[in-house]
Amino acid sequence: MDEKEILKEINSCIDCNNCLEVCDTFIETGNELQSPKGRLKIGDKAFRNQEISEEERFGLYTCTLCGLCDLVCGQNIDISTIIHQTKIKQAYTSKGLYDIQTKISKGIIEKDNSVNGTPEERLDWLTPELRKTEEFDKKESDTLLFLGCMSSFKVKESAISAYMLLKKADYDFKILKEEPCCGEYLYSTGNFNKAMEYIPKVHKLLKHQGVKRLIVTCAGCLYAFNNVYPKYLDDWNIEVKHIIQVIKELIDEGSLRIAKKHSDQAVLYHDSCRMGRKLRELEIFDQPRSLLIKSGVRIKELNKNCIESPCCGAGSGLRGVDKELCIDIGSKILQEMDDEILVSSCPLCVFNFRYINYKNQGDKKIKYITDFLLDAIEKS
Ligand code: SF4
Ligand code: SF4
Repeated sequence: MDEKEILKEINSCIDCNNCLEVCDTFIETGNELQSPKGRLKIGDKAFRNQEISEEERFGLYTCTLCGLCDLVCGQNIDISTIIHQTKIKQAYTSKGLYDIQTKISKGIIEKDNSVNGTPEERLDWLTPELRKTEEFDKKESDTLLFLGCMSSFKVKESAISAYMLLKKADYDFKILKEEPCCGEYLYSTGNFNKAMEYIPKVHKLLKHQGVKRLIVTCAGCLYAFNNVYPKYLDDWNIEVKHIIQVIKELIDEGSLRIAKKHSDQAVLYHDSCRMGRKLRELEIFDQPRSLLIKSGVRIKELNKNCIESPCCGAGSGLRGVDKELCIDIGSKILQEMDDEILVSSCPLCVFNFRYINYKNQGDKKIKYITDFLLDAIEKS
């Protein structure tokens, strides 16, 4: 969309307020500047080159880009895309990004990760024994298991369980010794120029490694490689799948089998917004649920699920901009739990839910999906 089209779309808003009813940042704050409609008005000012106030800037950058508002707008305004475009526009004004966003962006560029991790510790999820036998970049395989920053540094059991399940199936894949970040944070926060420098570098590395297929563990990586990379790289032709899609295929074709190891357990499955709603064309709704059911669990659904599933509260770097709002949004999801285990296919959601649970001094159990399923899946 060019700026003229953006302004035209913004001005097609009829103030019906439908979008206010689904937007968690508005529901939690009651502040119209933190609502979809309010953010469109901020966009209107920004694209007319008017200066936005500090409160408007905060309203803009507290949007998680969850995309729930897009589902309900009767005018079919592509609200979250316009908010994202406004973030980009705003990032290059004198006020620019918040310091925390600049700091995380700097970490991605200098350390190749979004979590301030020490690059040398990126492979700490791999046991010393496995490290001895792992060939890394030297392995002749065109399939790369791309773990991403959250799995590598923060939710390490998601990395090792995904790796072990592929090994159980004798699946042909490799991992990199020095994996980069996918760059999604740069893109979604509006740091567009840096994203456009970083993403081609990642693509060059993947091409150099002869990668034709990517298997990812993170919903953010899945979104970046399926949505952002193809949009900006003319020669992008890498197939991208989430680990749960691959495991489901391996079970369906008989390379792996799944046993009822988790009978008597109840699971609340949360669909991440990047993987569910924002990549709805991939329809990754039934695969995780069917594997969980085959492992014996009883699934409880959130009041809103699948395409309507709420954001965990961490989308588009909200944790850095407004931690309390992030906690309030995620807490609502945890409050729907009784004694179930919350299972997610996104390590960022897992990390955020655990953080919120800790802050709330709660006792909720939160697990990444392949870690939860690891003991129930064996080689056929
Ligand atoms: S993308 Fe999500 S957080 Fe942002 S305005 Fe829309 S509903 Fe609200
Ligand atoms: S739902 Fe669409 S038309 Fe209604 S207030 Fe929101 S942006 Fe405007």
